[in-house]
Amino acid sequence: MAETRTKASVALLVPPMRSRKEDEVRRSASSEVTAAVDAAPEVPEIPEVPAVAGPAWRAGAVDDELIALYPDAVCALDHDGPFQLLVATVLSAQTTDARVNTVTPELFGRYPDATALGAARREDLEAILRPLGFQRAKAGHLLGIGQALTERFEGRVPRSREELVSLPGVGRKTANVVLGNAFGKPAITVDTHVGRLSRRLGWTMSKDPLRVEKDIAALWEPWRWTDGCHRLIEHGRRVCSARSPRCGECALLEAGLCPQAGV
Ligand code: SF4
Repeated sequence: MAETRTKASVALLVPPMRSRKEDEVRRSASSEVTAAVDAAPEVPEIPEVPAVAGPAWRAGAVDDELIALYPDAVCALDHDGPFQLLVATVLSAQTTDARVNTVTPELFGRYPDATALGAARREDLEAILRPLGFQRAKAGHLLGIGQALTERFEGRVPRSREELVSLPGVGRKTANVVLGNAFGKPAITVDTHVGRLSRRLGWTMSKDPLRVEKDIAALWEPWRWTDGCHRLIEHGRRVCSARSPRCGECALLEAGLCPQAGV
């Protein structure tokens, strides 16, 4: 093929001759560039983020991972509006959300509002609530809530934590569930899953729910609070169970986000 090349094609392969003046200009430009590079400040190397950094960094990153894992995590209690959510949350003490969901259709069908609930016959309520256990205490709480909402709040669920915890059977956790999920006010719900995961993730060392709530609040921006707790709960149910956490299959461990504290 080389023999068949035309003069024009060979000319393209050979670099053109330069004059001495051109060479001088080039040498001068090249030494200027070298001098400029030598004078430039050294660009610092970007440090690698350690696998386990401070809890503040990890807490946000953990939630980002959980958002990807459970993008639709929501409150597991079936409800329609603040009244039903308040009642369902009170009933969820000492039992599972799934079990509560088996009794609330009949409960809300027979007692659709605070006035009806407050006027219910105790034995009828106990019969409906029996599958949940603690039916006597729970029936008492529901009667008290129905009456208190009717008498003090015109039948509506109040929107402040102080007023909510003034209702029978309503503690801070229940109040936070209602504030966060019914009224859209950022609130951290520390249930058994959220407490356990927070300790394993190294966010808190406390078993006191209020302390845990404050520790999470210091690590998470408020927009994460309500749904972030749903995501932690989902992860606790599916992967990080109390008795046998499946760390080998956990995306948080793979991402270097869990120190497995106490596991
Ligand atoms: S790595 Fe283990 S302890 Fe940590 S969140 Fe995952 S399952 Fe739980």
